Amino acid sequence: MGQKIVLVTGASSGIGAATAERLAADGHHVVLGARRRERLDEVVGRIVAVGGSGQAVDLDVTDADAHRAVVDAVVAEHGRLDVLVANAGVMPLSRLDAGRVDEWRHMVDVNVLGLLHGIAAALPHFTERGVGHLVTVASIGAHEVPPTSAVYSGTKFAAWAITEGLRVESPAGIRVTTVCPGVTTSELADHITDPHARDAMVAYRASAIPASSIAASIAFAVGQPPEVDVNEIIVRPAAQR
Ligand code: NDP
Repeated sequence: MGQKIVLVTGASSGIGAATAERLAADGHHVVLGARRRERLDEVVGRIVAVGGSGQAVDLDVTDADAHRAVVDAVVAEHGRLDVLVANAGVMPLSRLDAGRVDEWRHMVDVNVLGLLHGIAAALPHFTERGVGHLVTVASIGAHEVPPTSAVYSGTKFAAWAITEGLRVESPAGIRVTTVCPGVTTSELADHITDPHARDAMVAYRASAIPASSIAASIAFAVGQPPEVDVNEIIVRPAAQR
């Protein structure tokens, strides 16, 4: 397996940062995108310090034009994009009767439209070469709907369906993988504003596994030979029910 050119969205913390570090350690060139540039630069610093190859780019996935510009710039600089890890996501959980419409919209914007913007940006390049790999970081929430997770799970069911849709529409050279993590250590729950959902999350997160565990699954899918497409990986903490 040669070096791949990989764009990881939401690479400034958590699963995205761990994935960027793991794929760089595997010998790939990783482009790390997110909004918090200083955090991206820290991750790139860690990658470079151990001999890896990485670069940071400013990216807000809710901006379709910006996403396209980032992908086009990667292709212009490196000649191709081999893998898009569509990982950026937000999870401001709350019950539906809390009526937090702005947070619902934010989840749809990042978790659904952000993924679609990535596909719109990357797919023309994948199609032109007949080769490419979309890795979507969905969630165990793509398979279950716990209380407070109706909208979040809705966005992750959508991410699952969109990724599967790309698979069935694509030629064999274009591979898709949906990764569905269970509870994982990251900053994801820090942005929950609803007190009921915050309290519920404390016990839930006690079983969290490290982000490197999810990165290892993504690296497994990325490392398969071209004729092998790992369509979906569900990774829960062993203690999660
Ligand atoms: P973090 O909060 O640690 O990371 C989320 C990342 O998304 C950050 O890098 C953040 O960067 C980025 N992000 C948020 N909004 C945008 C945006 N508009 N444009 C670009 N980047 C954005 O959480 P996780 O690592 O846990 O989350 C990564 C993915 O994993 C998400 O899709 C999440 O739904 C999924 N997931 C996580 C689980 C968990 O238990 N942790 C379980 C199942 C799925 P910045 O703010 O700098 O832009």
